[in-house]
Amino acid sequence: MTRARGVARVRLTHLGAAGWEITDGQRVILMDPYLSRLRYRARFGLLDTPELPGDTRRVFGPDDDLVSDTAAVDARITRADFILISHSHFNHTLDMPYIARKTAATVIGTESTTILARAGGVPEPQLLTVRGGEDYAFGALSIKVIPSLHSALNGKHYYDGRVVPRDFRGPRRMDNDVEGGTLAYLLRLAGYRILWFGSMNYLEREVQGLRPDVALIAAATLTAAPAAPQTATSRRTPVIGGSSRVRVPASCSSWPDVLSWSSRPRVCSTRWRTLPCSSR
Ligand SMILES: [Zn+2]
Repeated sequence: MTRARGVARVRLTHLGAAGWEITDGQRVILMDPYLSRLRYRARFGLLDTPELPGDTRRVFGPDDDLVSDTAAVDARITRADFILISHSHFNHTLDMPYIARKTAATVIGTESTTILARAGGVPEPQLLTVRGGEDYAFGALSIKVIPSLHSALNGKHYYDGRVVPRDFRGPRRMDNDVEGGTLAYLLRLAGYRILWFGSMNYLEREVQGLRPDVALIAAATLTAAPAAPQTATSRRTPVIGGSSRVRVPASCSSWPDVLSWSSRPRVCSTRWRTLPCSSR
């Protein structure tokens, strides 16, 4: 998506899964960049990535160390100034330490995210730990951190209050993969208010009336053929306001992409595509 307002332009590119890249040509902001898109089995004890024709990559199991596919990252990510993380599950954070080391970007996330970044070798000055409620200015960019909730998995009984232990040094595995709290973010950049959710639930009081120009809303289900959006997603849009504004469901039309199933570009046509922008 590329839009002009005055002389400033902002480009939003879906990176697959919950990941986005936003740039005004001067700054590059990444959200939950997860380019590795691992094949895995038995996540949460029952979730496997589906078999994809021609995908011969290794499959990670519960006892395997989860490692970033640096070639996949390098093929897409060349620079970043900020990396915003919604929560600490590996399909949101696994590539973050490598990208942060490579780009020297500032990583913004929960304490659990900071601990994972530190364990991944990200230098301390690049780490910014937030809890939700902060509103920071970085020159012409400002970032409001919004307390939020993780997707309502497990028959909408999902709850995971665990955090990453402060002495965690790795390796990352599915059996030590915890949420560590969930955040959403409102970016103000080049005259635009861009609201991003990296997971599929929210706290109504925290998003009431935000009226973003663009809302990047996770909108997938756990099945390979999503028939209807999650209730949390469908009820979220009226609350944030902005009925004439642009909303971009962050998913592929035929794949539960937001939840980060393994996929190759041929599977998910929007993986690298800059999404078209509807008119205001
Ligand atoms: Zn998660």
